[in-house]
Amino acid sequence: MTNPFDLSGRTALVTGANTGIGQAIAVALAQAGADVAVAGRTPPDETRAMVEATGRRFVAISADFTSIEPIPHIMEEAIAGLGRVDILVNNAGIIRRADSVDFTEDDWDDVMTVNLKAPFFLCQAFGRHVIGRQSAEPDAKGKIINIASMLSFQGGIRVPSYTASKSGIAGITKLLACEWAGKGINVNAIAPGYVETNNTSALRADEKRSAEILARIPAGRWSQSSDLGGPAVFLASDASDYVHGTILPVDGGWLAR
Ligand code: NAP
Repeated sequence: MTNPFDLSGRTALVTGANTGIGQAIAVALAQAGADVAVAGRTPPDETRAMVEATGRRFVAISADFTSIEPIPHIMEEAIAGLGRVDILVNNAGIIRRADSVDFTEDDWDDVMTVNLKAPFFLCQAFGRHVIGRQSAEPDAKGKIINIASMLSFQGGIRVPSYTASKSGIAGITKLLACEWAGKGINVNAIAPGYVETNNTSALRADEKRSAEILARIPAGRWSQSSDLGGPAVFLASDASDYVHGTILPVDGGWLAR
């Protein structure tokens, strides 16, 4: 019997994969059999070693998502390195914390560009790539996994542009699923709970807030980046072929409480 989670022969592009959740997803996809390209601004040396240790191919692409200018060359380099791209993981993201009464235009624009504008235009480039291949290969398929957040569902505090961007990513995930589900492209998102990464270092340094968060997590622990690997493999694989437009919480039960 074939394994519906097997990614052998598939190729993936993951953004922001030098560390944290992106690194864990890149490694999980490689462990499931995919060759991996990563795009980001810090050299992904550790991720390269981890992916190559699985025996899969690895391509590093330099890109800064403070604008969408690098997007055409990212797709070109990924296709040149891996032949084609079957799976796109929009993971790169930033957060800025300040009370809403003090929040600056720069903190709004920077977060919205990296977290929402760049992912949309990467989805567009990927969609054009997959749909463009279908004239020669009618069975060509694509899988998009956007990284959402608990703040795709909730308001949060002191992170207005982050909440707007992650609510927006949930919206475009559903919109693109409606446009592309009939074209062989699955568009879904993973909404991590509270994960121990650079993104949450300020939160974890605040003992009171950190304890309040932990007390609300039914699983009784913060998430590790590796908790996101299995769900990403599922959404990247044939096992999820009829899953479209879902925002999958991977949150230790946070939203259930
Ligand atoms: P992280 O460790 O800070 O990783 C963020 C990644 O995005 C890094 O690779 C970072 O590269 C990259 N990045 C940031 N700005 C970039 C830019 N301008 N151009 C290119 N790459 C850029 O945080 P993480 O927690 O793994 O976050 C990954 C994703 O998960 C983000 O979308 C985040 O919003 C989301 N998320 C995180 C949590 C959590 O609890 N940690 C919860 C929900 C959702 P550098 O290392 O070069 O900065």
